[in-house]
Amino acid sequence: MKPFEFVWFAFFILFIASTTAHADEPMWETRGMPYAIFETLPVTHVNVGGATLDIAFTPGNFDLPKTTIVNWIAARARMVADYYGHFPVKKLQLLIISTEGNGIPHGTSYGYGGGAIKLALGRHVTQARLDNDWVLVHEMVHLAFPSQVPAHLWIEEGIATYVEPIARTQAGQMNVTEVWRQLVDGIHKGLPNPGDEGLDNTHTWGRTYWGGALFCLLADIEIRRRTNNKYGLRDALRAVTDAGGSIEEKWPLEEILKIGDGAVGVPVLSELYQSMKAMPVETDLTSLWHKLGVAIKNGDVIFDDSAPLAGGRRRARPARVDARKRATPDAAAAAVDCPRTDAQARPLARGGRARCRLPGDPAARRRP
Ligand SMILES: [Zn+2]
Repeated sequence: MKPFEFVWFAFFILFIASTTAHADEPMWETRGMPYAIFETLPVTHVNVGGATLDIAFTPGNFDLPKTTIVNWIAARARMVADYYGHFPVKKLQLLIISTEGNGIPHGTSYGYGGGAIKLALGRHVTQARLDNDWVLVHEMVHLAFPSQVPAHLWIEEGIATYVEPIARTQAGQMNVTEVWRQLVDGIHKGLPNPGDEGLDNTHTWGRTYWGGALFCLLADIEIRRRTNNKYGLRDALRAVTDAGGSIEEKWPLEEILKIGDGAVGVPVLSELYQSMKAMPVETDLTSLWHKLGVAIKNGDVIFDDSAPLAGGRRRARPARVDARKRATPDAAAAAVDCPRTDAQARPLARGGRARCRLPGDPAARRRP
């Protein structure tokens, strides 16, 4: 073989090897969201909070029945819908990736091809583990905020970190004491360290997740203080989703904050952003917890309702949601398996709607 032919042959072998390796990689292992996989796997449809959830499982059995897992997903979606008044996107494609173990190791949310979540779920996961999980609610909260440039990742993670325990508390899945324990234990990790250049320019883990959560906490407290507890951060965030803001959109952060400010009538979000975006703003957390009337003593969370901002603290963790007052009631939290056949897949390929619905679902009666 001549040298030129040998080089060509070597490149050919390398090319074959690389494409073969790629072809062996499961579609769900890719970095992005494998939207097309919903055309090939059986899909279960659930209607929650005004949205349709399309749920697909990668191959692999779980110790728990899949119906149990689907109902858990629906209950998580209900928590997020109750916080925002409706589920943040009209349609969610949720891919459950069957993994080793009994945990829920990670999840990722996407918006570029429509609202979607990829969630890794251990095959031996238990009901107790599902009940205590925070990952899926965190990912679903991400669906409620327009996608940001990397410099603003802190606001996406901050909202998800701050709202997730509140949404679970509203649903009775977490108690208020535990929420404040997590905040007091965690939020100091979001304070600026030496060399910090503000939230937009400091992309450490602490500043991204807990720095963003600190922004949310400060905004919540200040909105409540200026409006005599008429409004809080939740009202501002609801206004963004009501205006059509979701992970499927790419809106400038300053415009989003203006929408929130407009809803609560005080420009707290914009002002706070201007002060914290490029400067390492110090927050006296000892003073803040004192004003809110929350302390941890000997491992116990102690509340002082005579503290100056105790009223705001109590309202920042709203009471359990009354199902009868929901703006978007559900038909049921159960699910119907809807294996896809070729005949069923064709209407979807033309842009058709989901092909089977929950019995009694109002949407099923409205649509042909
Ligand atoms: Zn996140």
